[in-house]
Amino acid sequence: MSRTGLFDSHAHMDSEYFDEDRDQLLTFLSKELDGIINPGCDEISSRFAIELAEKYDFVYAAVGWHPENLKDIADNSYLDGLAAMAVHPKVVAIGEIGLDYYWQENEPKDVQKRRLLEQIDLAKQFDLPVIIHDRDAHGDILEIFQKEVKGVRAVFHCYSGSLEMAKELVKRGFYLSFGGTSTYKNAAKVRDVLQYVPDDLLLFETDSPYLTPVPYRGKRNHPGYTELVASNAAQVRGTTFEVLAAQTTKNVKILFNKIK
Ligand SMILES: [Zn+2]
Repeated sequence: MSRTGLFDSHAHMDSEYFDEDRDQLLTFLSKELDGIINPGCDEISSRFAIELAEKYDFVYAAVGWHPENLKDIADNSYLDGLAAMAVHPKVVAIGEIGLDYYWQENEPKDVQKRRLLEQIDLAKQFDLPVIIHDRDAHGDILEIFQKEVKGVRAVFHCYSGSLEMAKELVKRGFYLSFGGTSTYKNAAKVRDVLQYVPDDLLLFETDSPYLTPVPYRGKRNHPGYTELVASNAAQVRGTTFEVLAAQTTKNVKILFNKIK
């Protein structure tokens, strides 16, 4: 076990923000954390995530096309590319995938939904969970997971939906993951959900290099700050850091069951 016993279930260590000190940082983090899951956002970053997972025992990869990058998909052969990577022993999920209605320049909603459903189908074929990104698309995401999607395990990363939506997701056994935003002063709504989620469906993450927790908000984020997310969550949930570290690391290994 690492110093904290925590798992960062979502960090983009392939990001250019880590180009200068990636190896130094990961060597340090290997003693701090039990593990890190690095999701891919397109073909290149998915490959990079796998490279990092091959180099570092405690790093695991997910592969997928993020809704912000869907314009770069030439044709449906992108799914063959993902399938070839999904069989890698350290690829533990398909992600991050989802819907992003925030950016005007993203693909239209129908295209985003189609690509999401295709990648969920792929996850089912390989019996992998999915890591879901949902930005300003709560209604459509909920509808998809209530009506169209059956038999897939999922985590809603950096959860930003309502408490009502969280209840619907929890009812279906989906996981909710919390990061730096749950420490922000104006995030009372996120903390209400953080308080509500059952122990066995809770995950922590950083989404590094973005969304840095308090008191480092505005600076570059890194997985070492999972500790700040967990400490804050312990306070919100009225429990201890140690209990939550053990519980959330157990949850990671149940959801991402290729991690031993
Ligand atoms: Zn992310």
